[in-house]
Amino acid sequence: MLYDGGESDILDVGQPLQIPIPTLPEGIYRKGNTGPQVKALQSNLVSLGFSLLVDEIYGPKTAGVILQLQQKFPPIKVDGVYGPQTKASLQTLIDTHFHLVANPTDKLVLVNRVNGLPAEYVPPDLVVPNIPFAFQEYDPKKQMRKEAALALEQLFTNAKQNNLSLIGVSGYRSYERQAQIYARNIQISPTKAQFSAPPGNSEHQTGLAIDVSAASINYQLSQSFAATPEGQWLAQTAPLFGFIIRYQLGKEAITGYQAEPWHIRYVGTAVAQIITQQELTLEEYLGNSR
Ligand SMILES: [Zn+2]
Repeated sequence: MLYDGGESDILDVGQPLQIPIPTLPEGIYRKGNTGPQVKALQSNLVSLGFSLLVDEIYGPKTAGVILQLQQKFPPIKVDGVYGPQTKASLQTLIDTHFHLVANPTDKLVLVNRVNGLPAEYVPPDLVVPNIPFAFQEYDPKKQMRKEAALALEQLFTNAKQNNLSLIGVSGYRSYERQAQIYARNIQISPTKAQFSAPPGNSEHQTGLAIDVSAASINYQLSQSFAATPEGQWLAQTAPLFGFIIRYQLGKEAITGYQAEPWHIRYVGTAVAQIITQQELTLEEYLGNSR
C-alpha cells in the first residue's frame, strides 16, 4: 500500500518509508574531505548497495568505492577522486537503478547491467575443471566454482561420448581483468560498450559461467557456433547438466546483452530445465525483468 502523504492517516507499517536520497553534491571531493557534501555522496553510495559508513569523512573506503565505480566508465580517470565526470557517471547508475548484489555466492545470483558484483568479490571455491581448453598453459580464466566445474566435466564427458569436440575458452574473470578488457574495448570502439560488460557486470566474475566453442570454428566465440553440431547439441543438452544458454536471441532487451550461443551459466539442473523448457531468461525466472 502506498502512503499518499496527505489524504490517509493510516501508515502501512509493513512498508518501510522511503528515505529520500540527497542529490549528488557538486564540486570535487577527495580523501581527507569532510562535511555534509561527503555525507550526501556516501548516502548515494549506500543506496546503490555499497556497505559504507555514512560518517561525512571521505576516507579510504569511500575513495575505494569511487575508484571501483570509475572503472565502469572508461575513459574516465580512475583516481578515487569525486568530480563532475564521476558525478555524471554515478547519476547514470542511479537513473538506471543499478544495485550491488547482496548474495554473490548464491548459485542463482543475478548479474547483469544493473545488478553488479563488488570489486572485491572472488568466488570462494574456484577450481580448474578437467576439460579440454583452447590453450594449454594455466590461466585464471580456466577456473570455475567447484559445483559448476563438476557439472561442466560431466557435460563435456557426455559431449565426447557423442563424438563432439566441445572446448573451454574462458571461465572465471576478476573485476580487474574485466575492467582492463572493457577499457580496451571502449578504446577500440565506443560502440562496443553495448556488447561488452563493465567490470562487476560480467557473469564471468561469478565463477558460474564459461564460454565454450568447437574445433570446427577454430575455438572462436561467434554467432556461427549456434549452427555447429556442438552448438546445437549444447543448447539441447546443457540444461540436463545444470547450465543455461544465458543470452538468447530475441531476449536482448531483457538480458541487456546480444545473443551469445557460446556463453553457458550454471544454475543447477532443476532451474536450468525450467528456464529452458519455458524459454525464459534468468531475469524472467527470478521475476526481475525490467
Ligand atoms: Zn561469456
